[in-house]
Amino acid sequence: MMIEVLADEVASQIAAGEVVERPASVVKELLENALDARASKVAIFVEQAGRRKIVVADDGDGIPSGEIRLAVARHATSKLRSAADLYRIATLGFRGEALASIASVSRLTLTSLTRGAMVGARMLVEGGVITHVEQAGLREGTVVQVEDLFYNVPARLKFLKQDVTERRQIDALVTRYALAYPAVRIHLIQDGAPVLQTSGNGNRREVLANLYGVETARQMLEVSQQEAHLGITGFISPLSLTRSNRREITFFVNGRWVQDASLAAALLQAYRTLLMVGRFPLAVIFLELPPEMVDVNVHPAKSEVRFTNPDHIFSGVQRAVRRGLLAHSPVPNLSLPTWQPQLSGGDISAARTPGLDWDIAAQVGDEQRALSGDDRPAGETPLHLASSDGTPRQPGSLPLLRLVGQIGATYLVAEGPDGLYLIDQHAAHERVLYERFMRLRHAPLAGQTLLEPATLQLTPAAASLLADQIDTLNKLGFQVESFGANIFQVRAIPAILAGSDPAAAVRVVVEDFEEDESPLSGEIEARMIARICKRAAVKGGQTLSAEEQQSLLRDLESCSSPRTCPHGRPTMIHLSVDLLERQFGRRGSR
Ligand code: ADP
Ligand code: MG
Repeated sequence: MMIEVLADEVASQIAAGEVVERPASVVKELLENALDARASKVAIFVEQAGRRKIVVADDGDGIPSGEIRLAVARHATSKLRSAADLYRIATLGFRGEALASIASVSRLTLTSLTRGAMVGARMLVEGGVITHVEQAGLREGTVVQVEDLFYNVPARLKFLKQDVTERRQIDALVTRYALAYPAVRIHLIQDGAPVLQTSGNGNRREVLANLYGVETARQMLEVSQQEAHLGITGFISPLSLTRSNRREITFFVNGRWVQDASLAAALLQAYRTLLMVGRFPLAVIFLELPPEMVDVNVHPAKSEVRFTNPDHIFSGVQRAVRRGLLAHSPVPNLSLPTWQPQLSGGDISAARTPGLDWDIAAQVGDEQRALSGDDRPAGETPLHLASSDGTPRQPGSLPLLRLVGQIGATYLVAEGPDGLYLIDQHAAHERVLYERFMRLRHAPLAGQTLLEPATLQLTPAAASLLADQIDTLNKLGFQVESFGANIFQVRAIPAILAGSDPAAAVRVVVEDFEEDESPLSGEIEARMIARICKRAAVKGGQTLSAEEQQSLLRDLESCSSPRTCPHGRPTMIHLSVDLLERQFGRRGSR
């Protein structure tokens, strides 16, 4: 075939593939246009999950009738003039291709009236071709109606998910924008039923209640931090409120919803070791930074951004979240006296949950002290809680425990003044080693030189990871050198790993990062240490001598966060005297 320039409609359809993936993308672009037009009200009507019809009506600036044809022309925009403008974009749109793309894969009707104008215009576009333009427009603002989406691209239609899924995507999108723009009144109606109605009064927590329900909204913690060139505000969930996936983690950058794995990773880092493995917080975070410090022109869907100074942003997010978590440590909603004696019935699951909260609250106390470098004695910390014998107890610290023994070669059993403790020996040892390692972090760490260096070969991806982190690794007592393409030589390993397979030890440390999005440079070392400790810790199923059990218990008692392992799993289960009494029907049932 000869080389020919594609017809405009064909080019538009190709471009549309990137902008309009599904009904929710149409809603996103139209909503963004309304917000760019400074609307104070936006109503969104959706039928059949957007396949049949999507209507977005706003009371914004409107499009002058003389320009209405241009609105659906490709690369036609009122928001950008020169290439230099690309570096200071203050609007959500700028590429001038959304309307063109949507129009090329649907039947679109655009009606608009600018503020103060007598007449506006209505335009019909079918599959990218303008078929009709007339005078119209009764109200100031713009109404865009999109019908029969993808009617001319059957391949796309086939890729759409079930209606429920597409509908949920739209709900998720609109509710998030409603959170980002609390001063805009946003209504979403799906198949005639109102899904979301915000008041537009500017109160974000009120919108949050729309999104997650009143109770959750009440519990969400506020984040607010202003630094040079970076404002971070928003909401994060307390430790007691988690999800099994990271879907409820949302970031806005300068009013734009972005999907950015490293921002999410920064947030998760702040929760690290505080949440159970596999649990994720809810969060809506708004970043504000000078437009020239963020490149939004990465992808046609505009949901990816690049920061000129990513580390600054990520550590800012981390700090802000940490601070938010600690400032509102969950002690207020812990209300110990209400749950402790008054728990009704003998249902162990009901009893266990508050018990866990208690441990988590204590854990936050630990982190708070660790963070502020505050070594004040127990009684002075605002988090102090009374133990059952009435003496104030340092949060997180363990009472003196009396070892009873080991069971199943996996758990230690111990008794304290307030009941029985079951301790997971592996998790506990991990915690002990981790804290020891962290304490020694700035001293040169003892490595054990191998009699015979070991070599290991990695996949190219793992090899480049290791090459990047080789200095950090070597600070921890390893001595690893590059030894040709993807091959490394291990000359020493940390002393606490003495006796284990050196190549496997290195491999394990690197593997941790393979699954990860993009680790934060500041946290890489801590994660490597956690990994090393995991490997070095005694395993479940390993019989320990009485002395070993005893010393593990003593070491754990002296840890600053004894109740969780470095990966956030509990090291122990506490069966309080109270719980035991209730379980045995000695109390509560009479
Ligand atoms: P972009 O938003 O990138 O400029 P679009 O294709 O989304 O590109 O829109 C093209 C142009 O149409 C916009 O620049 C704007 O001038 C105008 N426009 C689109 N939607 C609206 C609206 N709801 N209100 C006012 N003007 C609009
Ligand atoms: Mg736009």
